[in-house]
Amino acid sequence: MSESVQRKILVIDDSKTNLILLKAHLNNMGLVALLADNAVEGISIAIDQKPDIILLDVMMPDIDGFETCRRLKADNRTSSIPVIFVSAKDQSEDKISGLKLGAIDYVTKPFNKGELQARIGIVLQMMELQEKLLLLANTDELTKLANRRHFFQILDRELLQAKIRGGSVSVMMFDVDHFKNINDTYGHLAGDKILQQVGRTLSENIYPMDMAARYGGEEFVVMMPGMPVGIAMQRAQKLASQIDKNNWEVNGKNISVTVSAGVAVFDGAESIDPYELIRRADDALYAAKNRGRNCVVPYDQLKPQEMVKTHHNGDFVELQTKISSLAQQMKEQTLGVISAFTKAIIVKDPYLASHIENVKIYTEEIAKYMEVSQILVDQLRTASMLHDLGKIIIPNNILHKTTTLSDEELRTIQRHPIASADILAPIGVFNQEIVIIRHHHENYDGTGYPNGLVGRNIPIGSRILAVANVFDAMTSAKPWNPNPKSENEAVEEIVSLAGVQFDPEVVEAFKKAYAANASVWPLSQKQALELAVK
Ligand code: GH3
Ligand code: MG
Ligand code: MG
Repeated sequence: MSESVQRKILVIDDSKTNLILLKAHLNNMGLVALLADNAVEGISIAIDQKPDIILLDVMMPDIDGFETCRRLKADNRTSSIPVIFVSAKDQSEDKISGLKLGAIDYVTKPFNKGELQARIGIVLQMMELQEKLLLLANTDELTKLANRRHFFQILDRELLQAKIRGGSVSVMMFDVDHFKNINDTYGHLAGDKILQQVGRTLSENIYPMDMAARYGGEEFVVMMPGMPVGIAMQRAQKLASQIDKNNWEVNGKNISVTVSAGVAVFDGAESIDPYELIRRADDALYAAKNRGRNCVVPYDQLKPQEMVKTHHNGDFVELQTKISSLAQQMKEQTLGVISAFTKAIIVKDPYLASHIENVKIYTEEIAKYMEVSQILVDQLRTASMLHDLGKIIIPNNILHKTTTLSDEELRTIQRHPIASADILAPIGVFNQEIVIIRHHHENYDGTGYPNGLVGRNIPIGSRILAVANVFDAMTSAKPWNPNPKSENEAVEEIVSLAGVQFDPEVVEAFKKAYAANASVWPLSQKQALELAVK
């Protein structure tokens, strides 16, 4: 708090005469007096106006001064405001009780004007000292910006608020390019001046709710609460170009100073702590350096190779590559074992063999007509192979029943996606596929199982698998249902269920895939069945 701000003293006293008297004394000292003649009003003024000191009477009707003090100290909005009791109760026990409640001083009435003013003066001096110390602890000496410690304190608070209220927090990390050269060429003192000017340029060109801090050496951070990544990028670029365009001069000579920056944003989509957010901004900054400096890079657009190599040496990268290829091998081997196991189930249920094969092909073809990543295509192939694993928990008499199922039987059937997921979970290598499998019986309108997810809340892989799965089920003959739907009936039914059971976008893609494969689809009717999974 700067010294020019007038200090406010709140007086809580039920006697009007005392209020008037104390107000006069306080005004005499150049202080602002806020007055309340009862505890309730006093507490509410304390919360709203944040006075610097509270002068509190002890004997008041309704709520007395001790209870008022207890309430003020229990509320974190008012607990740090110093309380001075001003009371006619002058016994030692009274003073001890008051001080034990957290009051900073106890003055007895009738008070001596000089004594009261002196005591208030001491408390004010103490507060100023405290504020100076706090400022010192929070400030970087060279640039006068907030230091790293204080920055993390505020970032932590902003992230918490964004999490509670929704909203985003952007963090940008700036690093002066080739600063070592500047130091080496012009000396450390010139370097210091440049750091001060960079700090000023940042702090003068941000909004009041933003915060600039010196992170360390020649690194600065800026936090912008409420900024989505697009705007944060624009503003970071503007700050970087303001630094670039500044007239930098050392010993009368013009020099060039540029910065590189990385931008990372918390947007509520995932839980993230301040250190992780800064790490991301730092990774993006590192990429900006590698892209040639004097540029700004957002973390969410880092290329895979930039993410892997960031901050790691060759040994790390080599080890990471080896481990990831080992993980891939393990995944394939595990898939092999599971396929073998699936074949064993197939002996019990030959329909399942062709079903798995067909669903795999349908999902792959549908995915082709949607804008999905190769990663998802790979996951879908595996998920198709594993999606009915959970059917081993369902007795054949229920699985193949053509008459109406009882509630209990229905529940058993509806558990199979969860059972599939539960079987796969301990293996630990199919986490993404498990999510797809778990939800492949959810309906777009929220009437499906196991969770009744609605619309786009259903994972996209599950929405694709759902159409492929149902199309094959409709068109395949089974011992317990020998008359499958014709291809026209099946396609029509799927189209009619767009927006009800299925995602309309997936149905659109299915229609295109079907048109392209009309000569061979439905696979169960137009292709010779190859039993057993390849
Ligand atoms: P790059 O573009 O990769 O960031 O290169 P750089 O030279 O800026 O980076 P490097 O980390 O090699 O050097 C940073 C230099 O900043 C080294 C250090 O002496 C200097 N430095 C750190 N703190 C201060 C400071 O408070 N004052 C001055 N004058 N220099 C500082
Ligand atoms: Mg640097
Ligand atoms: Mg640096």
